[in-house]
Amino acid sequence: MELSTIAAIATPPGAGGIGIIKISGPEAVKIAGAVFRYQSNHTQPTTGKPTGTTAPEEHFFRSHHLYYGHIVDPATRQNIDEVLLSVMHAPRSYTREDVIEIQAHSGPAVLRAIFDLVLRLGARIAEPGEFTKRAYLNGRIDLTQAEAVIDIINARTDAALHAATNQVDGKLKTIVENIKKELSDLLVSIEASIDFPEDVEDILPTPKIIPKVQRCVVKSIEDLIQRYQAEHVYRDGLNLVIIGRPNVGKSSLMNCLVQKDRAIVTATPGTTRDLIEEGLQINGIPINIIDTAGLHDTNDPIEIIGIHKAEQRIDSANLVLLVVDAGEPLIADDVQIYKKHQEKNMILVVNKMDLVEDTNAFRLEVPKNWNGIAQARLSALYGEGIDTLKDLIVKNVTGDLRRIPDHSIIPNLRHENALKKCRDAVNSCLIGLQDNRPIELIAIDLQEALDWLDTIIGIKPSADVLDQIFSQFCIGK
Ligand code: GDP
Repeated sequence: MELSTIAAIATPPGAGGIGIIKISGPEAVKIAGAVFRYQSNHTQPTTGKPTGTTAPEEHFFRSHHLYYGHIVDPATRQNIDEVLLSVMHAPRSYTREDVIEIQAHSGPAVLRAIFDLVLRLGARIAEPGEFTKRAYLNGRIDLTQAEAVIDIINARTDAALHAATNQVDGKLKTIVENIKKELSDLLVSIEASIDFPEDVEDILPTPKIIPKVQRCVVKSIEDLIQRYQAEHVYRDGLNLVIIGRPNVGKSSLMNCLVQKDRAIVTATPGTTRDLIEEGLQINGIPINIIDTAGLHDTNDPIEIIGIHKAEQRIDSANLVLLVVDAGEPLIADDVQIYKKHQEKNMILVVNKMDLVEDTNAFRLEVPKNWNGIAQARLSALYGEGIDTLKDLIVKNVTGDLRRIPDHSIIPNLRHENALKKCRDAVNSCLIGLQDNRPIELIAIDLQEALDWLDTIIGIKPSADVLDQIFSQFCIGK
């Protein structure tokens, strides 16, 4: 149990209707008692002076009640703001500690004044995510639920929100715990068979156990891994970068996808010199799309900077759309761009198909090593073929789905990594059982599988993992 009391301004900076200061820890109620003046009849006009108010004793605050009154500096008797104050006594609170939330007016000066007062009275500034970290350390939530809190805050789409809400409710944790139960039962049997080697066949009937583990454990793990692979983009989003030489229609494609005149389109090459960035959704996938300066050899210093910036964004792209012009054969610049970025996940966009006379007979002559690349033919000018490109993008980032995404659970990369390690250890254990390997070795595999499951829900996590997770939070959560 943490002994310090932490505080934070939990609402974003700036002016607004309400700003919230959160306090959690053993001194929270005492601090609230020192700064809050309760006003029993709040129909009374407020004069700026805390007249008609009473200083509540600590025991005055009843848990899960909301109080109306003022924050008053006990040293100067200065009235700071008219507030609502909510009280949640441990353990029925977000952190499982005493929690006070002060709802004040939201302005930088007023929130800072209340916050400084709270700090002066003994609280310390909370680190990012520290309230949620305490909820986890005090056993109210597991690590997957803590991670889902960040996901809810960051959710940009309904799908991401749906998955995060289910995860906060413990859906992923429950599945992991069910898998754990199966493996723990098996480990108990294995340990018993070590103690009673003469009864191994009764305790460990491998012809029955192997299919059961495959059904109840391996299949569940595979399902979660597949969910990550097919659906994580619905939560994590996608960085999509449009590249190509000047004048092939990159800006036109950008405008067509975002459905507004975002980038300047002209017949003059080299108009897009800086990066142009927009957000859009395709089938519920949040996409950050970036139009880049035309890539080619140039001496123009502004274009050179633009091309340099483009290259940086290509490096961090999840998917690159290489645009070429259907109205003319590929030229050396197109080939050069492909060659330079061929390692990237790429779709070839053959634009200006409206200039092609016989689209059925049309075949873009591409170098042999381009042959495997997915191709979308379209006309950005007329908006034709855009849906095919969108389908291709979705297919590219979700894989060939064997199941329709339901967004009920979307594991993250950390979970996926641990699940794969767990699956490998379980498979090794099954092979061991099949091949009658020494039972002690099988037990080691099984223990390893269980350890990986524990890392997912946060039993005995390393300090690095915790730091990495909670540093992603904002202050006050
Ligand atoms: P960027 O330099 O690659 O960004 O290309 P732009 O989008 O600025 O387009 C260059 C020129 O090609 C402009 O005159 C556009 O109107 C034209 N263009 C773009 N897309 C198409 C298309 O699908 N068909 C035709 N015919 N022209 C297009």
